[in-house]
Amino acid sequence: MVEVSGIQPDSGFILEPVRKTPVVRSVDVLVCGGGPAGIGAALGAARTGARTMLIERNAFLGGAATAAMMNTWNVPVSHMTGVAREMALKLADRGSAVITGPTMPFDPEGFKELSIDLLQNAGVEFLNYTWVVEPITDGTQVRGVVIQNKSGRQVVLARTVVDATGDADIAASAGAEYILGREKDQKMRPMTVLFRIGGVDVRKTVEYCRSCPEGSFNPDPNYHILDLEKGVVRMFGFYHIAEKARATGELPDDVHYIRFEGVDVAHGIISVNNSRVYGVDGTNAWDITRADIEARMQNRKVFAVIKKYIPGLENAFVIDSSSNIGVRETRRTRGAHVLNEEDILAGRTYTDSVARVWRHHGEGQVRHSPDGREGASDNFAYREARTNLNWFEIPWGVFVPNNVEGLIIAGRTISMTHEADMWARGQYACMVNGQVAGIAASMVAAKNISLRKLVVSELQSKLVENDIDIGAVGKTIPS
Ligand SMILES: Cc1cc2nc3c(=O)[nH]c(=O)nc-3n(C[C@H](O)[C@H](O)[C@H](O)COP(=O)(O)OP(=O)(O)OC[C@H]3O[C@@H](n4cnc5c(N)ncnc54)[C@H](O)[C@@H]3O)c2cc1C
Repeated sequence: MVEVSGIQPDSGFILEPVRKTPVVRSVDVLVCGGGPAGIGAALGAARTGARTMLIERNAFLGGAATAAMMNTWNVPVSHMTGVAREMALKLADRGSAVITGPTMPFDPEGFKELSIDLLQNAGVEFLNYTWVVEPITDGTQVRGVVIQNKSGRQVVLARTVVDATGDADIAASAGAEYILGREKDQKMRPMTVLFRIGGVDVRKTVEYCRSCPEGSFNPDPNYHILDLEKGVVRMFGFYHIAEKARATGELPDDVHYIRFEGVDVAHGIISVNNSRVYGVDGTNAWDITRADIEARMQNRKVFAVIKKYIPGLENAFVIDSSSNIGVRETRRTRGAHVLNEEDILAGRTYTDSVARVWRHHGEGQVRHSPDGREGASDNFAYREARTNLNWFEIPWGVFVPNNVEGLIIAGRTISMTHEADMWARGQYACMVNGQVAGIAASMVAAKNISLRKLVVSELQSKLVENDIDIGAVGKTIPS
C-alpha cells in the first residue's frame, strides 16, 4: 500500500513516502536478466567461485532465444568458444540443436531446460518472475538493486552487478553514459513477433525452392540453406511470392520477403521471422504494446500468404508465437572504448582483447535497418550480398560503463556503435561477452577491488583457463 494524503490529480505526480525495504540476499555477483548474456555471465561468475544470483522478469530463462523464440545462432560450432560452445554441444546431445552446418537451429524449449540445468549445476541461485526495478547507489557506486515480485519489493545487495537486461536498464538508471538507438538519429531497428508453424512438409518445400527460378532467394549459402542431408534448412527470400502478395495487398506493407529459420526438418516445424514494426522504442511500454499488437496483425496476413502460396505448407498450423516481442535495439552504454564497424572490418586486434568472436557477416550488409524496406527489390543486403565467416575481437574497454562503479555490462548493450551491433549482438556473441563479464565480476569480488583496477592480463589468463578464445594475444582456437 502506498498511503498518500492530499492527492492533487492535476499535478502529474505523487510523492511516495519513504519505505523500509527488506534485504533478502547479499551476494558477490548479481546478474540482472537471464538471456544469453545473463546465462553466460552467471556461469562465468559461479564457476570461478563467486556467490552468484540471477534475476529474470520472465517465467523462464533464455531471453530472446526463448521469449522471442529466435532460435538460430549464425556461427558453426567448430568456431564457438567458452560456455556458448558447451551449450551448443549439450543442446545437440539432447536432440535440441543441429550443429552440422554454418548455422545452428535449436529448440527454444530445449534451451530453457538446459539453461536451468547449467545454472543449477554451477550453483547459481536464480529467481524468475521478478523485475529488477532500480539500482541502489552510494554516490557513483552501485551496491545492489531493488526487485519487485509476488513477494513484494525487496533488496539484493552485491559486490558487483552485471547488467544483462538487453536494455541497459540498470546502467541507465544508475547514471551510466549511454545512447539510445542509432547515433545519428536515435532510430532503432524494427521489432518482430516470431511464430512457429507445424505440419510442414519440409522436403516438399525444399524441392519447391530448388525448382524456383534464379533470383527467387538470397544467394548466400549461409542464409539460404537447403541441406537436407545435414538436417540444416533456412529459407530466405521467396521474393516472387512476396511481390505477388504485396501487389494484391495480402502481405503487410513492411514485409518484402519471406524468412523461415530454426527449421526442424524431422518434425516439420518452422520459425517464421517476418513481422517488422518500425519507429518504436523498446524502452517505452506503450510503444512495446503497440508494436506487439501490430506485429501479431502482420503475422496473421503472413501466415495466410505462406499457407496459400508455398508448397509443403498446405497443412501448416500455428503452434505458438513468441511470448515477448523481439526488440533488436535500444540502449548501448559508453565505456573507455567504443567498438565500431571500421575496426571490425579492418580485423583490428587489441592488447586488452578478452574475446574473439566469429560470425557470418559481410561488408556493406546493413541488417534490419531502422529505415525499413528490408528485403525490398532495391535492398542489396537482402537480395544479393553474401556473407563470409569473419572474426572480430572484443576489447576489455567496452564492458565498464562511464560514470558508475560496481557495474559491468553483458550482452547487446556493451559499448559499441549501431553498425558494430550487426556483428556483436547475436546470441552467441552475447553469451561469450556475458561469460567474460561474469568472470571479471567474480575476480574483482574475490580481490575486493574496483572493476577499473582489474589487471587485464590476469583476466585474460583466467578467460583462457575457462576455454575462451581471446584472439591474437592468447592461445587461439581455431585459426
Ligand atoms: C527478432 C529478433 C531476431 C534476432 N535474430 C537473431 C539471430 O538470428 N541470431 C542471433 O544470434 N541473434 C539474433 N537476434 C539478436 C539476439 O537475440 C539478441 O541481441 C540477444 O539475445 C541479446 O542477448 P542479451 O542477453 O543481451 O539480451 P536478451 O536476450 O534480450 O535478454 C535480456 C533478458 O533480461 C530480462 N530483463 C530485461 N529487463 C529486465 C528487468 N528490468 N528485470 C529483470 N529481467 C529483465 C529479459 O526478460 C531477458 O530475459 C535477434 C533478436 C531479435 C529481437
